[in-house]
Amino acid sequence: MDRAARLGVDEDELEEVLEHFTRATYEGRTYQHLSSSFRGIERGTVLLGDVVVRGFPSIPRVLVLETGIPAYFDGPLAIEEKLNGYNVRIADVDGVLAFTRGGHVCPYTTQVARERMALEPFFQAHPEAMLCAEFVGPENPYTAHEYPEVDSVGSRIFDVRDRETGTPMPVERRREVLDRFDLPQPDWFGIHDPEAAVAVVEETIETLADRGREGVVMQSVDGRDMLKYTTGVQHRKDLAFALSLPFDYGRDFLFSRLIREGFQAVEFEESEAEIRERAHGLGEAILEPMVATIRAVRAGEPVGERHTIRASPEAVEGLLDHLAAQGITIEIEAERTVDEDRVVEFVKISNATRDKVEYFLEGGTIDE
Ligand code: ATP
Ligand code: MG
Repeated sequence: MDRAARLGVDEDELEEVLEHFTRATYEGRTYQHLSSSFRGIERGTVLLGDVVVRGFPSIPRVLVLETGIPAYFDGPLAIEEKLNGYNVRIADVDGVLAFTRGGHVCPYTTQVARERMALEPFFQAHPEAMLCAEFVGPENPYTAHEYPEVDSVGSRIFDVRDRETGTPMPVERRREVLDRFDLPQPDWFGIHDPEAAVAVVEETIETLADRGREGVVMQSVDGRDMLKYTTGVQHRKDLAFALSLPFDYGRDFLFSRLIREGFQAVEFEESEAEIRERAHGLGEAILEPMVATIRAVRAGEPVGERHTIRASPEAVEGLLDHLAAQGITIEIEAERTVDEDRVVEFVKISNATRDKVEYFLEGGTIDE
């Protein structure tokens, strides 16, 4: 089969489609990736020679469980924990490669996947599959978040798909296969009919919220339809993060989190006291990080996203080059060697926030 057929486009469209792909190299191999979806091809789709690795689709969100779940699913659905990390696809194309959401090979994640995950038996049995995983934990270059069960960086595999077509493995079979190969998976909250699932998700969300966790992903048992729903704690963490860099995150980002809180407070039938408590939490998430950032700029300290990474010197080097190539400015705050690994703490400098905050601190004005 040729490339056009593999990508699912007509032969005469191929050239135009390929123009939208960006060329990159990893370990001397050239590949192409699609940074935003085009002609129905998902963002993050990768071409390596004749091999296609499909992008991971966007998961719709529901705001009201009681009406949303039965409207979306016409049969039983599986409920699993949604983790807050970064999306990775792992495929074996003459060697294990780990792709980020946009289809870059991430040098850091690739090394972690090769060295800390036992992938060989799985890919021997399923050579054409890709593992879709959330990489979580405090030590990673993209989304650092504490999980008590993860001390550096770890993966939770939430999907196994055919890498070329993107077709998912049915949920129960996927759980079984991953279990058999001893690969880590997200927590599991069972399979339920849509009506019954409403109460299960509500209860699960309350427990997850108490534990400071992100939320759930629901899936039809064939794995094809997915839906997400998140906890109030996560909305506040998102807001706190965005407002620590107020001029980097768009207003849409903030608005969407506020709306989620509004619908959740109503659906969970909260008392006046509970709503006041939620309002309090929201206010703190909005104001405190912003104050800290304005003070940091005033004190001349670097502002941006802070990350710690731990890997071989080559992987760390590869990652820092990779970030620089994407136009990200990095300031290293601490560096040490532990066993064979290089541990680096750095800030992805946020020029927009620093410049705007400086401008206002120096008396700049705004038309509004
Ligand atoms: P998009 O809107 O394109 O999906 P996003 O980064 O805004 O991107 P999220 O709100 O984080 O998406 O939700 C979708 C992502 O959640 C998935 O792409 C995946 O990386 C992550 N995820 C974490 N746990 C799971 C899980 N159990 N099942 C499916 N996805 C999960
Ligand atoms: Mg996420």
